Amino acid sequence: MRDAAPTTIYLKDYTPFGYIVDSVHLTFDLAPHATRVKSRIAFRPNPEASDKTFFLHGEELKLIRASIDGAEVTPDVTDKGLTASVPDAPFVWEAEVEIDPGNNTALEGLYMSNGMYCTQCEAEGFRKITYYPDRPDVMSTFTVRINGNLPVLLSNGNPTGKGKGWAEWTDPWPKPAYLFALVAGDLVAHSDGFTTKSGRHVDLNLWVRPGDEGKCAFGMEALKKSMKWDEDVYGREYDLDVFNIVAVDDFNMGAMENKGLNIFNSSAVLASPETSTDANFERIEAIIAHEYFHNWTGNRITCRDWFQLCLKEGLTVFRDAQFTSDMRSAPVKRINDVIELRARQFPEDNGPLAHPVRPESFQEINNFYTATVYEKGAEVIGMLKTLVGDEAYAKALDLYFERHDGQACTIEDWLKVFEDTTGRDLSQFKRWYSQAGTPRVKVEEDWADGTYTLTLSQSTPPTPGQPEKLPQVIPVAVGLLGPNGDEVRGTEVLELTDARQSFTFEGLAAKPVPSILRGFSAPVILEQDSTPAQRAFMLAHDTDPFNRWEAGRALATETLLGMITRDAAPGSDYLDGLLAVMRDDALDPAYRALMLGLPTQSELAGMLHDKGVTPDPMAIWTAVETLRQATAQHMQDLLPRLHSQSLVDGPYRPDAEQSGKRALGSAALALISRLDGGTQAATEYARADNMTLQLSALSCLLKSGKGEAELAAFYEQWRHDRLVMDKWFGLQVALASPDRAPEIARRLTEHPDFNWKNPNRFRALMGGLAMNHAGFHHASGASYELLADWLIRLDPVNPQTTARMCSAFQTWKRYDADRQDLIRAQLIRIAETPDLSRDTTEMISRILA
Ligand code: ZN
Repeated sequence: MRDAAPTTIYLKDYTPFGYIVDSVHLTFDLAPHATRVKSRIAFRPNPEASDKTFFLHGEELKLIRASIDGAEVTPDVTDKGLTASVPDAPFVWEAEVEIDPGNNTALEGLYMSNGMYCTQCEAEGFRKITYYPDRPDVMSTFTVRINGNLPVLLSNGNPTGKGKGWAEWTDPWPKPAYLFALVAGDLVAHSDGFTTKSGRHVDLNLWVRPGDEGKCAFGMEALKKSMKWDEDVYGREYDLDVFNIVAVDDFNMGAMENKGLNIFNSSAVLASPETSTDANFERIEAIIAHEYFHNWTGNRITCRDWFQLCLKEGLTVFRDAQFTSDMRSAPVKRINDVIELRARQFPEDNGPLAHPVRPESFQEINNFYTATVYEKGAEVIGMLKTLVGDEAYAKALDLYFERHDGQACTIEDWLKVFEDTTGRDLSQFKRWYSQAGTPRVKVEEDWADGTYTLTLSQSTPPTPGQPEKLPQVIPVAVGLLGPNGDEVRGTEVLELTDARQSFTFEGLAAKPVPSILRGFSAPVILEQDSTPAQRAFMLAHDTDPFNRWEAGRALATETLLGMITRDAAPGSDYLDGLLAVMRDDALDPAYRALMLGLPTQSELAGMLHDKGVTPDPMAIWTAVETLRQATAQHMQDLLPRLHSQSLVDGPYRPDAEQSGKRALGSAALALISRLDGGTQAATEYARADNMTLQLSALSCLLKSGKGEAELAAFYEQWRHDRLVMDKWFGLQVALASPDRAPEIARRLTEHPDFNWKNPNRFRALMGGLAMNHAGFHHASGASYELLADWLIRLDPVNPQTTARMCSAFQTWKRYDADRQDLIRAQLIRIAETPDLSRDTTEMISRILA
């Protein structure tokens, strides 16, 4: 390992920087292997800071010269930065450095992607561009001059000068360095405009490589909708003359909210009906909204330090979820978000990588862009809104923007605006930010003399570094149904604050059936001993769409667990209840498609583990296959009608209505394929005229053990399109039968199109393998070994993407001793790799601990 003792950074150690930055001027002379960056930065002593050390971050920079107030200086330079002695008065720092974007494969700092220059500075990438106090609480205006012989030269803010081979940009809004961006290349724009509510015109451009012009229209519409929505719902107006978005093929994450110049992974912005699925369109709409919303929640108000990451990310995810609910179907969005939370955040919160929404220490901040910070962070905001009510939430947000505009803030600042608005004490609520782990809420019921008593107890299991947990404030939305299925008490929010607490409902004619945690009002695991008949009753009658879906999900889960642990037959309550729902044409097709879903095999493994049963991946796989087959047979007569839903009227539209119908049709086709061996799927494949239907038919064929010819034809049809080829790689591995998965994955790594240095391609293949639960956990250990081989290979090239992919191993302690031995051996092999990155070192050591 690189560092014998890696440095840990603690929240409690925060101190302000000794100097304030009044302005930054940067000049870039672009050259692929020797870009020169000249900086001129006006500093002055910070009266609030006691430590006056003048340390500037800088990594992988060649310092050419430096001066203070025009006099050359020779700073002390290390591989982390430089120190210099400076006057105790305002001064101007100038430096010139040389960097090598052409060899920057880590995709952090200034790098090249297909001949185009671009940057990624969050969290700590700016220090790879020039020497600077690279921390989010240092904010300044920036002026940037770019010299380079390329047709398009972009940076943050407004254009303030332009000539042949140069351009100048000025960003009038003070910002931290992580929001800096520069793009230069041969790009074409899809342009439009937006007039803000106060009448200001904004130029909008989506910049893409020539050839991708046809994939821009949807993203542009999503941007305009986002701008309008943020004005209507949050009163937030855009604040520059231009808003640029650039699509980049090589990008570690989804997208980045750089001020006025958002940079997107091309997979998160480019869309066309022929090449993108309905799910891709929905995700793109949400990511464009997310990055746009950061302009206020993240940029105008930023984070004091990286421990406060959820301040911007939790809030912005919450805002983009509200946006999607408004644009599409609110219940469908909520159910999808909970599915995601359980699939990605719960394993994190219940395993070795568990950390609080606001972590208290880290070695590498890039490892904390997690489902906990983002998705649980958004859940925490949703709970706050539930607790204070919509009106107080709106008031608190207005106060937040008014009080903190232009500042770098903390979670304390955020909670204070709610306390000041409502008079409520939020100190107990704050535990959601400091305690890791998923709370369990146990339900007990009592019924006597017309009074129904609900007793709720909460407990949170230990997580790394946190053996004991205190009770949290848990908003539990509850409604009561009468014996005939009518709602006898509408939804009310119970506030569970103690370890154990009772709530009574009086004056009831009969013992009610409770519908608990409606809308998934808190990110907890509800432990409720209901009979299958009670679940079926809720599935038939619950007025809360989330809990109605949840009842079906619980029935499915319990059936599967019974099949796995007791060799039980598929439950009739599940099959009959599901059939009734699927027959109900009054129900939204998208909602019915969700009803047809099952928990993932990984989730089932987690639940078995929680019950003290060692999960057997093959037994889980077999149970799911058996239940699917039984479902197909049980619904046989209905399937053609459900499938016909996907034949929508009129041209393709990726909206909620059409995509819901296609989702239901595709789910039906998957069941039909179990009965006809893929005959109809082959027909559907041949006539598919959009990627959603093409891919769903291809999936059915692959699952039926067919589709060789279609797979080859798909390759020939789409080999020119990177984003579609990612699907081609991912699908084959994710849907491979468990016994063949490791070999199929290994063969694909030898494919000439496996450009493993491209994060999307690497993730498509290796992420597809990790998603194939039984295939990944192949008893031979072949998949573990293959993934470890590739993590070791990618680490020196791109530590961030390597480290993120390590989480495929985070659940390893659930499995049997043989599998644990196999995985441990791979984890140790990775850990012992010479010069392993700090990113991967931290991840592996946490997973192994
Ligand atoms: Zn974000």
